[in-house]
Amino acid sequence: MFDLIKFLKEKGYKVTPQRIAVYDILSNTKEHPSVDTLYSKLQPEYPTMSLATVYKSLEVFKELGLVQELNVGEDKFRYDANVNQHPHIICTACGKVEDVGDEMVFDLAEQVERKTGYQLIHQQLYFFGLCPDCRVKQ
Ligand SMILES: [Zn+2]
Ligand SMILES: [Zn+2]
Repeated sequence: MFDLIKFLKEKGYKVTPQRIAVYDILSNTKEHPSVDTLYSKLQPEYPTMSLATVYKSLEVFKELGLVQELNVGEDKFRYDANVNQHPHIICTACGKVEDVGDEMVFDLAEQVERKTGYQLIHQQLYFFGLCPDCRVKQ
């Protein structure tokens, strides 16, 4: 298992219970939470933790390549501890963000490279739609 404490220490970053808690939530969820969502999840256990601390922790993790920031077209970012490039699907009604299997995307990336002559470094792929729950409610 990934040893966050050791990793932070090796990189010369401060290890705080708050930091560990933020990463813990992120690495155990597939919900792609925003800062606000993370903050409210941390509140019961860390009532004194500020929103700024959550932000700061995410900045550190981003710098270290431990989380990726997703821009799903909202006024805030979502965060994912799965830093492998993988496509996401977003429900435009309830705002749910889910993973889509990445097999299809490898083919797509290959085709893009072939067609454009670019060497791809990075890609973010988002699909938007209505999730099964919201479709039922329509
Ligand atoms: Zn939905
Ligand atoms: Zn994801």
